[in-house]
Amino acid sequence: MKYTSPRGTKDILPSETGLWQHIEATSRNVFDLYGFHEIRTPIFESTDLFVRHIGGDTEIVQKEMYTLEDKKGRSLTLRPEGTAPVTRAYLQNAMADKPNHQKLFYMGPMFRYERPQAGRYRQFHQIGVEHFGDASPIADAEIIAMGIRMFSQLGLKNLNVRINSVGCPISRPVIEERIKQFLHTNLHKLPEHIQKKFESNPMRILDAKDEVVHTYLAGLPDIKDALSQDSKDHFSTVLEYLEQLGIEYTVDNTLVRGLEYYTETVFEIVSADLGGAQNTLCGGGRYNYLVKDLGGPKTPAVGFAFGVERAVLLLKDQLKLKQPELDLYIVPMGHPQQLKCFALADELRQAGISCQLSTETKLKNALKNALKNANKLSATYTLIIGEEEAEKGVVILKHMESGDQEEHPISNIPQVLKEKTKATNAAH
Ligand code: ATP
Ligand code: MG
Repeated sequence: MKYTSPRGTKDILPSETGLWQHIEATSRNVFDLYGFHEIRTPIFESTDLFVRHIGGDTEIVQKEMYTLEDKKGRSLTLRPEGTAPVTRAYLQNAMADKPNHQKLFYMGPMFRYERPQAGRYRQFHQIGVEHFGDASPIADAEIIAMGIRMFSQLGLKNLNVRINSVGCPISRPVIEERIKQFLHTNLHKLPEHIQKKFESNPMRILDAKDEVVHTYLAGLPDIKDALSQDSKDHFSTVLEYLEQLGIEYTVDNTLVRGLEYYTETVFEIVSADLGGAQNTLCGGGRYNYLVKDLGGPKTPAVGFAFGVERAVLLLKDQLKLKQPELDLYIVPMGHPQQLKCFALADELRQAGISCQLSTETKLKNALKNALKNANKLSATYTLIIGEEEAEKGVVILKHMESGDQEEHPISNIPQVLKEKTKATNAAH
């Protein structure tokens, strides 16, 4: 084979696209119920948008970005996530002033240079939501509830909400000081990249994937002790509203998430059925300063994103999707019949009847091969027309499951099939 897809990417084949469409359609439906509208932003943005606003100390910016220079020497980056681009678009298009432009959702490919493994790719897909302009903890609880309701409607089980608060920027130095105090005696035992973060950005240590780091973090006092009373109240209200809906959660005192813009609530939805380091299905949180940092007015916001590949992984074994249906397979024998049927197929499709036309031209095997094909395609009916039928102006219509055959004038076929397919659809 001369070419294969680049490492970390994959083709999504028709055997799987049905499931993708199911996930996309279900999330669209659920988002609509909560008043979220779709936005589509470019696949690439200025590199600066991500470096400055995801944060220079994060894994994404340090290791994972696909950055290129265009012919005019501009630095561009394939988007590794959706929140910074959507926030950029929100500001650039003055969406705060437009009715119904505060609750947004997006779906599409993201790009991160990571070590590929099950549930981790270099081109992957996210579906995400952003709610701008509402500082209330109720907005946090609503978005988490929306995620949970959507996943359960998809049929996902064994999910758990992990939740924490990282407070506001004022308490950040206090939190960092506490992390440093706790870790400093063991600092020399930690990996070098963690030691670097100790000075530059100690909170990022909590986000490290290395198991050894987490053994040294065991016993770390709750970072929420350092939060302001307002932040503590915000967090307890989020929990209160989740409880109101009976949504179970686990407070995880070390959860900070891998993006620098988060303030107050951070959360993940994890699945016990996803293995290892890829068990996070969905990640999100509040980001009250991103709009302002991008040059806009102070605008609170909250959002989440989930990985479609991980949802597909979980659903693949659970869901038996309906096979695509084909109403009719058309088998003309001989050139004049073929020409006639080419027009018939055209007419039927315009009438909403799905059909495929056999292009088999060798008369000898035409019928046998065509019937084999009709079976492979699971056609409900097969239409056969040979010279003899053509002379009489009729066709043979065969119901594939029962084997029953009927003769009909060719001109009646659109009407006959319309009635028959209507009857079958009603019976389903
Ligand atoms: P992880 O801890 O798995 O690296 P993350 O914290 O980097 O995830 P986010 O940036 O919050 O993830 O993205 C939200 C979701 O997008 C993740 O929970 C996951 O489902 C999905 N995701 C992230 N990176 C990838 C990837 N490389 N391949 C497939 N899905 C991904
Ligand atoms: Mg990651």
